[in-house]
Amino acid sequence: MFNQQSNNNNNAIEQLVYSLSRLPSLGTRSARRIALHLLRRREATLLPLISNLQNVADNIKICQICRNFDVNDPCNICTNHNRDKSIICVVEDVADLWAMERSGLYKGVYHVLGGVLSAIDGITPEHLGIDKLLKRINDCHIRELILATNATVDGQTTAHYINDTLQLLNKTDLKITKLAQGIPIGGELDYLDDGTLAAAMKARYAV
Ligand SMILES: [Zn+2]
Repeated sequence: MFNQQSNNNNNAIEQLVYSLSRLPSLGTRSARRIALHLLRRREATLLPLISNLQNVADNIKICQICRNFDVNDPCNICTNHNRDKSIICVVEDVADLWAMERSGLYKGVYHVLGGVLSAIDGITPEHLGIDKLLKRINDCHIRELILATNATVDGQTTAHYINDTLQLLNKTDLKITKLAQGIPIGGELDYLDDGTLAAAMKARYAV
């Protein structure tokens, strides 16, 4: 049985299992299976993984403008001349930025919060780089700010906070928008939760 005590006995495999078990969505059982897989398939999986981890550790930086991960700082989105620098999309996480990029529909730039406001977890506006975002809006000519935080309580609280703060700045030429919420493509009304259905009703449009 793996436990904290056995972690201290300098067993290389147990150290590996311990490291893996600290990754999101992995418990000790999954971590053991992955460790065994890596050991059995050293050439095909373990060595490339080591190489990729080292490469990421050595080369990936956080963009000082938008807080995206990239080999370059500023990142390739912030320095791309084909992107519209006057539109900023605020997302919670780099994973959300990746999702937006996969859609291929958005040609503006981003601000990655890296979390949401949370009194319990001690996450403040400073942790989310909101001061930097406000400075960017003040210093650059930003036409539109898209609040694309998740449709969770904390995500929406964070969006409200940013909106309220911007109202105080009285930037009359700045349009603040939010992503529409409602029925997913292929979704059936009967399967929707009440909140989603209510949001879809509220966001209904003329056809
Ligand atoms: Zn960037």
